[in-house]
Amino acid sequence: MCGIIGLVGLEGTRISPTLYDGLLVLQHRGQDAAGILTSTESRVFHRRANGLVRDVFQMKHIELLQGSMGLGHVRYPTAGGSSAAEAQPFYTNSPFGLSIAHNGNLTNSEELINDLHRKDHRRINTDSDSEALLNLLAAELQRVASGRKGISESLDEDTVFQAIERLHERAVGSYSLLAMITGWGLIAVRDIHGIRPLCMGSRYNDGQKEYLFASESVALDVLEFQMERDIEPGEAVIVRSNGKVSSRMCAPAAEHRPCIFEHVYFSRPDSTIDGISVHEARLEMGRVLGQRILEERPDLQIDVVVPVPDSGRIAALELATTLGVQYREGFVKNRYIGRTFIMPGQSVRKDSVRKKLNTISNEFNGKNVLIVDDSIVRGNTSKRIVQMARSAGAEKVFFASCAPPVIHPNVYGIDMPARHEYIAYNRSIDEIRSEIGADWLIYQNLEDLVSACTLGGNQKMTFDCSCFNGEYVAGNIDSAYLEKLESKRKDGSKYRQQAMT
Ligand code: AMP
Repeated sequence: MCGIIGLVGLEGTRISPTLYDGLLVLQHRGQDAAGILTSTESRVFHRRANGLVRDVFQMKHIELLQGSMGLGHVRYPTAGGSSAAEAQPFYTNSPFGLSIAHNGNLTNSEELINDLHRKDHRRINTDSDSEALLNLLAAELQRVASGRKGISESLDEDTVFQAIERLHERAVGSYSLLAMITGWGLIAVRDIHGIRPLCMGSRYNDGQKEYLFASESVALDVLEFQMERDIEPGEAVIVRSNGKVSSRMCAPAAEHRPCIFEHVYFSRPDSTIDGISVHEARLEMGRVLGQRILEERPDLQIDVVVPVPDSGRIAALELATTLGVQYREGFVKNRYIGRTFIMPGQSVRKDSVRKKLNTISNEFNGKNVLIVDDSIVRGNTSKRIVQMARSAGAEKVFFASCAPPVIHPNVYGIDMPARHEYIAYNRSIDEIRSEIGADWLIYQNLEDLVSACTLGGNQKMTFDCSCFNGEYVAGNIDSAYLEKLESKRKDGSKYRQQAMT
């Protein structure tokens, strides 16, 4: 998962401080690397490196990033490796001085890279599918623009839209994409199924409209832009450096299938994605799960509902209200520690749950506790948390996951471990329960999750739920592809990759 942001500001201003603030707001989408690329009329300024936004940029970097138009990116590696060379935005000077920031994952990047090599004579320097995407857009822009010579000597919107049409024909998978043409304008593109989010906002500065694109609406809020709308699947929106806006559908209509995991875990609760409030979806996840518990196990005698901070909180609160049981914060999180999920090697990860969370014994002692988390992936977190609740004196420990069992690889940009590392892999619910050491375990049904994310059917939406049901909406996923992915994702291989970079 990654976060992207793009801004066309008032001509003559320096927008890098705003992009920096925007990246801070999107930091939860990736903590591995960060970058900003800005453009004046004739040249670009670039800074990207591994690390958190606040560590990558110092005041001197922000001052050097000149220009009133630019892109920003925070990376959570999903394809390729973690090297600084793969930090985005990416830039190529031919044609027109083109740069991109990409969120998502191409599932045909190997074929695409071969194709770009053979047919387009472009060389890709990293394993990154985003670099392939940059070169694909560059090659198609070049092709369309040179075919139109004589019609129009200068680059126009129609040329760009045609290049995007060809990009959609050649790229498979998920891509929310922000591209910038130096001194010319910014282009926002969403894949034909709209798997990853991308929205657009505006504000007035000195009487002129400025435009901001971002992965999540929270960035618009914090930077005081008004939400205009989400980018449609298959659509491209161009904002020229003078503020002129145009848009076109660049692909035949396809089913809109945004990723449901954004609502479960990734997005900030104060974001609205494709018209659906993440906060409301999470409340609803808690409510429907609570109702099911009442129907299936009215005998449980739960004394207290305790969330796993921070991801389980919103649903747990509503779940407790539905059950008519007290909600208590029993775990305290060290907010200065990074995500445990991204640490290499299983032993480090197991230990870091304990370093991240501590218990308040009073909330557990002698009680039947229902612990609520957003999801269970490897099960390390839940296993450790159940142990901690018992050590704090809990009588019985029940566990609720607001998402169904994760049993299929995600190929659209969420970094999940290899299949055999999922705790639900080849295990029944009771075997998982026993593995995490709980007295009882409940998972949300997929149907209920979808109903929660459409706010009880009030919103019309079909989601990509592939990590729960194995249906890959963009197609082209066979067992050979999944096998290859598995070998890249295995802990050992990931650790080796990181050690090399
Ligand atoms: P575990 O079961 O130990 O793998 O950890 C699951 C927890 O990690 C969940 O409760 C989420 O809060 C969080 N999580 C789920 N998916 C991801 C992901 N792809 N990257 C980082 N954290 C995740």
